[in-house]
Amino acid sequence: MGRPPLGRRLAAFGTTIFAEMSALAVRTGAINLGQGFPDTDGPEEVREAAVRALRDGRGNQYPPGPGVPELRTAVTEHQRRWYGLDVDPDTEVLITAGATEAIAASLLALVEPGDEVIALEPYYDSYAACVAMAGGVRVPVTLRPDGDIFRLDLDELRAAVTDRTRLILLNTPHNPTGTVLTHDELAAVAELAVERDLLVVTDEVYEHLVFGTAHTPLVSFPGMRERTVTISSAGKTFSFTGWKVGWVTAAPELVTAVRSAKQYLTYVSAGPFQYAVAEALRLPDAYFDGIREDLRAKRDLLADGLTDAGFQVFRPSGTYFITTDIRPLGETDGFAFCRSLPERCGVVAVPNAVFYDHQDQGSPFVRFAFCKRESVLTEAVGRLKGLAAG
Ligand code: GLN
Repeated sequence: MGRPPLGRRLAAFGTTIFAEMSALAVRTGAINLGQGFPDTDGPEEVREAAVRALRDGRGNQYPPGPGVPELRTAVTEHQRRWYGLDVDPDTEVLITAGATEAIAASLLALVEPGDEVIALEPYYDSYAACVAMAGGVRVPVTLRPDGDIFRLDLDELRAAVTDRTRLILLNTPHNPTGTVLTHDELAAVAELAVERDLLVVTDEVYEHLVFGTAHTPLVSFPGMRERTVTISSAGKTFSFTGWKVGWVTAAPELVTAVRSAKQYLTYVSAGPFQYAVAEALRLPDAYFDGIREDLRAKRDLLADGLTDAGFQVFRPSGTYFITTDIRPLGETDGFAFCRSLPERCGVVAVPNAVFYDHQDQGSPFVRFAFCKRESVLTEAVGRLKGLAAG
């Protein structure tokens, strides 16, 4: 055979680490703290709303391209309720097949071949693949350990901008480090975007999973309204990762651009689930407080357990992931560590190196997910404690 089947743009991307590590967990029967999905489903009334929609024949045929009006309206209500933002449901909202499609469509729509895209490293793995599919050039700006968090160096970010930079692909709260950019950091990113006339695609899927001060959307900073594409999803906030309902909010011109790409990716998806997510977005504050507090307790349980087991722990301010440094355990290679972990102690984790261009920077870091039942986390912590001894 002549040419390999996989084209050049995707040749560097093998199977995602999430699929690889979840398969490893199934094969070995280990506790899966690798792929980030909750092991309990979201609220009963939201599930019932999906069943009702299916039964009542709402969404069983192609929904409208931009998403069903009920969900678009619910998204605008959500933006007003939590952030005081006014968003037009007809021109400024686009419903997508999860945040994943929103990211893909945004990059395919906004990036020309050769354009540079700045992403915070470590970056969520689909960013790199989507920049590549768009023919863009990825420019990583590395978050660096600073005490017990990872921090963005604003000077490095400024220095990364060139005449070819098209957009900054931001993610806060940040997967995998759990860093939440501060108000001042967001303000600096916004100033830079305005000064250099950049677009920003900001992935805020963990907007409700923050344990310190409340989430601030980047779009709320001066000058950002016309240059920001904000992405979120029902997967994290409502624990329905399998439904794949996400959304984009942006100025009409940007939404139109993103929709141009999206209509040729899936056109539409998840009809009945869109009605259910509309109801989810209208749940009372108690729901949102509840999931945050539940996860805060789980973060503390796992963070303390990992510390006791000998890891250096970067305590996340948001998301449901903890990044650790394995060097105190006498290990340096996160890949090898994660591949051997199921056998050594029956737990699966993810090597952060997969989220880096600078492999050397990412090598000693390993990510654990804590969106699991307390009993599962307690069992995992018990197993991990045997690590130092073994
Ligand atoms: N976002 C999830 C994670 O970071 C996984 C998503 C996926 O499997 N693609 O673990």
